[in-house]
Amino acid sequence: MKDFHCRDAGLDCDFVAKGNDNKEIMSQVATHATNEHKMQVTPELAKKVEGLIHDESSHAQTR
Ligand SMILES: [Zn+2]
Repeated sequence: MKDFHCRDAGLDCDFVAKGNDNKEIMSQVATHATNEHKMQVTPELAKKVEGLIHDESSHAQTR
């Protein structure tokens, strides 16, 4: 299980996307970014988000 925290992208937002792979997470993030932040998911943004996706277990260790 992997997750992505919107806060990690520099936004003041508690949204967390969870999924088994990057593709699942990216689709949730795309919907969220469009609806909540009125952001377009550009290739640059998609790349940034992918770089911020962590394994849930490793994320717990860093906190
Ligand atoms: Zn957000």
